[in-house]
Amino acid sequence: MRIRSIGTRLTFWYAGILSVTLLFLGSTAYGLLAYSLSHDIDSALEAVAKVSAGQARAQGSAFFPRDVDELFRHYLGFSPLNPSLELFDTQGRPDLNRPGSPAGKLPLSPKALKDALRGVSTFETIQSPGPYPFRVLTMPVIKGGRVINLVQVGISLENVFKTRRRFLLIMGAVLPLGLLLATVGGWVFARRALKPVDRMTQAARRISGEYLAGRLQETGTGDELDRLAKTLNDMLVRLDDSFRQTRQFSADAAHELQTPLTILKGEIEVALRSPRSPEEYRGVLNSSLEEIDRISSLVEGLLLLARADRGVLRLDLKPLELHELLEEVGAQMRLLAENQAVSLDYGAMEPASIQGDREHFKRLLLNLIDNAIKYTPAGGRVTLSLRCDGKFAHLGISDTGMGLTQDEQKQIFNRFYRVAEARSQSGGGAGLGLSIAQSIAVAHGGRIEVESTPGQGSTFTVSLPADCKTAISASS
Ligand code: ADP
Repeated sequence: MRIRSIGTRLTFWYAGILSVTLLFLGSTAYGLLAYSLSHDIDSALEAVAKVSAGQARAQGSAFFPRDVDELFRHYLGFSPLNPSLELFDTQGRPDLNRPGSPAGKLPLSPKALKDALRGVSTFETIQSPGPYPFRVLTMPVIKGGRVINLVQVGISLENVFKTRRRFLLIMGAVLPLGLLLATVGGWVFARRALKPVDRMTQAARRISGEYLAGRLQETGTGDELDRLAKTLNDMLVRLDDSFRQTRQFSADAAHELQTPLTILKGEIEVALRSPRSPEEYRGVLNSSLEEIDRISSLVEGLLLLARADRGVLRLDLKPLELHELLEEVGAQMRLLAENQAVSLDYGAMEPASIQGDREHFKRLLLNLIDNAIKYTPAGGRVTLSLRCDGKFAHLGISDTGMGLTQDEQKQIFNRFYRVAEARSQSGGGAGLGLSIAQSIAVAHGGRIEVESTPGQGSTFTVSLPADCKTAISASS
């Protein structure tokens, strides 16, 4: 089964890791406790055995141990259950002569006897008739380099077993309870921490293409979720802008197409209303053709922009001598300039060669020079120039026309944008010329920039990656 909530998944992981940690800590603590208990007992057994062996060495078979309880209390810190102290001879027989001896209580193992005869002490855990085993130390009593007796001390491990069991019981009760509390706490915290995600999901559900004004709630804490909300909100602002531009674009395109179509329809309807002379029909057809030209150039422009947007603008790239092309287009536009009483001159003309599409480039230059002439009053001047600085060619189209404000300069490359004055002008276009020119420049790896002062004129500069050296050698 796949768990779909991150909070629940986190809680499971947390509980799993906590269980393993607690289990590890619990078993380590239990191991340490068990080791420390048996170490204490072995140390006490050794101390008691040493004292007793010393006494037995001094007193021989007349050895009578002091109070065993007292001895253990001294070395262990408390009196153990069923302490035992026994003296054996070297045959392994208990010293039955000792008065009050609980002889035979603990057996002497053959191994302990064998070790003792070699002068070595032996620790053993042996089963007793009771429910708990005994810990036993057998130590040889050595006198004059000879083993004369064996001292055996032992105590019941009942207390050790009980302490260990109590520890296990406490652990068994406390650890699951701690685990449960920590898991519930973890789950509550995970849910609280992820609450903003739920809120964001709900808010995001309400946002759609039709309603992009909604925004996700930002907590202002600066944490990961707050940063995510901020990033998504920024994205929504961009999407909103882009949707608005698209809607505006469609509305503008429809409007621009509708105007010539309405004129076309009106003219044809009027012509059909009553019989006309062939000249009159020719006049109507000529006027209709003009409107159709307007429509087809608009549609062509829109198609070019759509292709450029999708990155599929077809470019027939060939080596292009920019200075030659600029002179050629300049010559074409001279008549138009003269008609407007605007002089058309050349400034610096440095040779430059690019890889470009000739037709598209011609269109770019025509748009810019046409604008310069169109928006320059009679008596003004348009200057074309070309500079090449090694890697880039800079085509300049300057005019002494009406100029543009800062705000207008920011907007003139937007589709269908026209400065109010230009909009009212009869010769003004649809506001697509500069967008198309910019798209062509960008498709060639370049860009168009504008510098302008209202009332004084404008300079449009087209910068493109170019090969200046090749061009210079080709022209020389
Ligand atoms: P249009 O086809 O209407 O000329 P453009 O995209 O070529 O559209 O230009 C957009 C607007 O930029 C124009 O309407 C005009 O107001 C302004 N513009 C363009 N070139 C110039 C210029 N050289 N001087 C002043 N204004 C200009």
